Amino acid sequence: MLAVNIGTNLISSLSEGGTLGVIFLAVSLITAPNPDRWSQLPIVSLTTNLPLVGEVLKSAIQSSEGRNILFLILIGFALLLQLLMALMMYVNAVSAGIIGSRLSAQITGLLHRRTLSFSFSCACQFRVGDLLNYIQTGGLAVNTQITLTNTLLVNLIQFLVYLLILIAISPWLLLLAIGMAAVMAAIQNQVLPRLRFISDTMTAIGVELSSRVTEHIQGLRLLHSSGELTNAAQETEGLLDQWLKQGVRMAMVSNLITPISNILPIFAIALISIISLFLLSDRQSGVLPSLVTFVLALQRMNARLGTLNTVAVGYANNSALVIRLNSILDDENKQFVRTGGLAFKSLQKEIRLEGVSLRYSADLPPALDGIDLVIPHGQSIALVGPSGAGKSSVADLLVGLYEPSKGSVLIDGNNLNTMDLATWQHRLGVVSQDTFLLNTSIAGNIAYGCPTATREQIEAAAISAQAAGFINGLPDGFDTLIGERGYRLSGGQRQRLSLARAILRNPELLILDEATSALDTQSERLVQQAIERFERQHTVLVIAHRLSSIVNANLICVMENGRIIESGRHEELLTACGAYSRLWQMQADAAKQIPREDAPDSCELQS
Ligand code: ADP
Repeated sequence: MLAVNIGTNLISSLSEGGTLGVIFLAVSLITAPNPDRWSQLPIVSLTTNLPLVGEVLKSAIQSSEGRNILFLILIGFALLLQLLMALMMYVNAVSAGIIGSRLSAQITGLLHRRTLSFSFSCACQFRVGDLLNYIQTGGLAVNTQITLTNTLLVNLIQFLVYLLILIAISPWLLLLAIGMAAVMAAIQNQVLPRLRFISDTMTAIGVELSSRVTEHIQGLRLLHSSGELTNAAQETEGLLDQWLKQGVRMAMVSNLITPISNILPIFAIALISIISLFLLSDRQSGVLPSLVTFVLALQRMNARLGTLNTVAVGYANNSALVIRLNSILDDENKQFVRTGGLAFKSLQKEIRLEGVSLRYSADLPPALDGIDLVIPHGQSIALVGPSGAGKSSVADLLVGLYEPSKGSVLIDGNNLNTMDLATWQHRLGVVSQDTFLLNTSIAGNIAYGCPTATREQIEAAAISAQAAGFINGLPDGFDTLIGERGYRLSGGQRQRLSLARAILRNPELLILDEATSALDTQSERLVQQAIERFERQHTVLVIAHRLSSIVNANLICVMENGRIIESGRHEELLTACGAYSRLWQMQADAAKQIPREDAPDSCELQS
C-alpha cells in the first residue's frame, strides 16, 4: 500500500510537470516568431532523433494546417496527462486513507491491549477518563498524522517539480517572483496589525459606550435631579465621535485589502512579463512559451505553498495528541501485568503470608506492616477491624492486584510473584462491595469467566446465592439484559449476582470482601446460609464488618493500622477481652438501640 502511495505520488507529480512541458511545446508551436526557425523549435529538436516521428513532425510543421493539428494533439496530450494526474491523486488519496484506517484500527487495538497490560496498580494511577481518551484519540491521531504526511509529501514533491521548472525557465525571473512575494507579505504585515488595532479600539469604545448608555438610562433620576442631562449627552456624543473616526479608518484600511490582493498579483505578472522580455528574448522559441509556462507554474506552486502552510498548522494541532499517544506507548514509569511463570493447578495445603508489608506509594505510610497469616486448605478465615485497617489490602495481595513491598505470599510454598498470575486468578472467586456487572444478560453476567457453564449450572449457582427468586421475577428471567429497559438492579441484587458468579467458578479460594454489606437483613441471612454451606467445602477469606456473620470462622484475625493485633476463634477472642470483644460489645450495643431481629446476643455470650 505504501508502494502504491509513493508510486502514485511520483506519477502524479511527473504528469503535472509533463503537462507544463507539453503546454510549453504547444504555445511555442503557435507563437513561433518566423517560419525559418520552425525547424529549431523545441518540439522538433527534441524529436529529431526519433525514427519516423521526427520526419513526420518536420514535414507537418511546414504547413499551417499541420501546425494546427499538432497544436490540438499537444493540448489533447496535456489533458490526458491531467486526467492521469487526477486518477493518480485519487488512488494516492485512497491508499493513504486505507493505510490510515488500518493503522488507526491497529493503534486502537494496541492501545486497548496496552491498557490491559498495565499492572493493576499502574492502571490505577491513570484517571478512567484519561485511559478512555487515550484509546479513543490514539487511532484518530495516527490517522490524521498519516493524512497530513501524505498531503505534505504530495505537495512537497509537486512544489519541487514547479521549482525545477521555474529554475529551468529562468532563475532570475524566479528570484524576482520571490522578491515580489516578500513585498506582498510585507504589505500584508503592515495592513493586518493596523486593522487589528482599529478593531480592538472600536470594540473598547463600543463597550464603554454601551456601559455609559446603560448607566444614563438606569440613573435617569440622578441625571434629572443633578442637572447632568446635557453633560451625559455630550459624553455619549464624544464617544460616538471617536467611534465614528475609527469606523472611517476601519473602512479605509479594511477595504484596502481586497484591491491590494487583487492588484498585486497582476502587477507581479506584469512586472514578470516586462522583465521576461529582457531575460527570455534570446530563446529560440520566443518569449511567450516560457512566460506562459512560468506564470502557470508559479500560480500552481503558490497553491501548493498554501496547502503546505495548512499542513504545518495541522501538524501543530495534532502534535498534542501524538505526544499523548507516545506517552502511553512509552514504557517509562509503567509496570506491566506479569505473564508466564509456574502454572497454578490446585490448592493442596495452604496459602501463607510471610512478613508481608505493602506500601501503595513511597510517600504514603505502609498499608500493611509485617503480616503473618496462614489460610489452610478448606478453612475459612475472617478479617475484621476498623475501616482503613488494611483488610482489603490483604485480599488485593492474595488476588495479585498488588505485589508485597516486603515479605511474600506463598501458595503451597510457591511464591505468588513467580507464578503465572492468570492461572491463579482463574481459580479465585471474589465478591466485593462494588460489584461490576457487564451490559449483558443476567445469565451472561453469572457465567462471566466460565464460558462453558451450562444453563443448569448457572441456575444452580443463582439458587445457591439466593438470587434465583428475584431473577425469575423479571420478565425475561435469566435472559433479562442488565441496564436495558430500566432493569436496574439494587445493591443487594447485584451482590447476590456477584456471589452466584463466584459460586459458579467453584473457586479454590473465595474472597468475600464485605460481600453482604448491601443486603437487607432478610436477604443477608439467606445469603449467609448459602455462604456457610459453600464454606464447608472451600477455602474462604471473609472480610466482614458485622461480626455476627463470621462467628463460625475457623480463625478470626483482628486488624488495626495494617497489623494483625489479635487472632483466634470467636469464643477464644471473646474470653480474651481484647479488641475483638470490644468490637463485639459495641455492635451489640448498637443493635440494642436499633432493634434488629438478627442482632448478636453478645451480652449473654460475654457473661
Ligand atoms: P480496609 O479494607 O480495612 O478498610 P484498606 O486495605 O482498604 O482498608 O486500606 C488500608 C489503607 O491503605 C488505608 O489507609 C487506605 O487509605 C490505603 N489504601 C487502600 N487502597 C489504596 C490505594 N489504591 N492507593 C493508596 N492507598 C490505598
